[in-house]
Parts: sequence; structure tokens; C-alpha cells
Amino acid sequence: MALRNIVVEGDPLLRKVSRPVDQINDRIIKLLDDMADTMYYENRGIGIAAPQVGVLRRIFVIDIGDEHGKLEFINPEITYREGSQVFCEGCLSVPGKTADVERPAKIRVKALNRKGEEFELEAEELLAVCICHEYDHLEGILYIDKAIDGVINEVES
Ligand code: ZN
Repeated sequence: MALRNIVVEGDPLLRKVSRPVDQINDRIIKLLDDMADTMYYENRGIGIAAPQVGVLRRIFVIDIGDEHGKLEFINPEITYREGSQVFCEGCLSVPGKTADVERPAKIRVKALNRKGEEFELEAEELLAVCICHEYDHLEGILYIDKAIDGVINEVES
């Protein structure tokens, strides 16, 4: 198991747009494994994007504890959005805070898996929230930017 340091709010890396992965090589596979280790190690981590470990590549890993298990997304694209839902979000890179954020109720996402195969997934509820949240990281956007009425809650971490 290898853990990576989590980049936290205030670091300019979190505000950069990540670049696509052009080749899924051993370094990318190691990055995926380390990202999952880091996500599972950190309490309540249900998703992690590469910029959160300081790598500006279009990759994220999600495990919300449902039947999908661990999902890895390389060069993801959200191809469909429908409806809206509000969910109270948190983020490993914004410790001690939560905020209500409005997201699509249903999305479709297309990405590559670690074998370089394209897959498509339809998601609703928490999984849709999580995918949109992680996708935003690849664009340099944090959920606190989208807090409803700018309200950000302080919580005990
Ligand atoms: Zn986050």
C-alpha cells in the first residue's frame, strides 16, 4: 500500500485544469492504485481525483460503497445531464467543511478503464454527485465554489 499526500485548499494545483492521459503506462497504474489506497485510508473518502494528490491528469477513483465497488475513470466525459438534486458535500482537500451543492439528478459518463477500454455508466443520486464533484476537480473547480447561497458549514474533523 502506498499513500500520497492530499493537496488541500489554498494550493494553486487544485485550481489548474488537468491534462488528458495519453498513454496508460505503469506510472498511471501505480497512480490509480495509490489514489485508491489514499482514498480508503482517509476516513469518509468516497472519491479522489488526481489533482488532489498533486498530479494534473484527468483521472479519478470512486467507491461509494454500492454494488459498483471501486470505479476508475480515465479521461472522463460527462455526456448527459438531467434534473437536479441537492446534496451536502465534503472533500478530502477541504477538511472540516461541508456545503449543500446542486448537481444533476442523473448523468451519463464515458471514460477509459485501466486497460484502456472505453466504458459508459449511468449514475443517479450519490454516485452522480460524486462523479460530478470529482470531474470538477479536473477543471480546477471545488465544491465550495458552488455552495448554495455561498453557505459553507464548519464541521469537526
Ligand atoms: Zn473533492
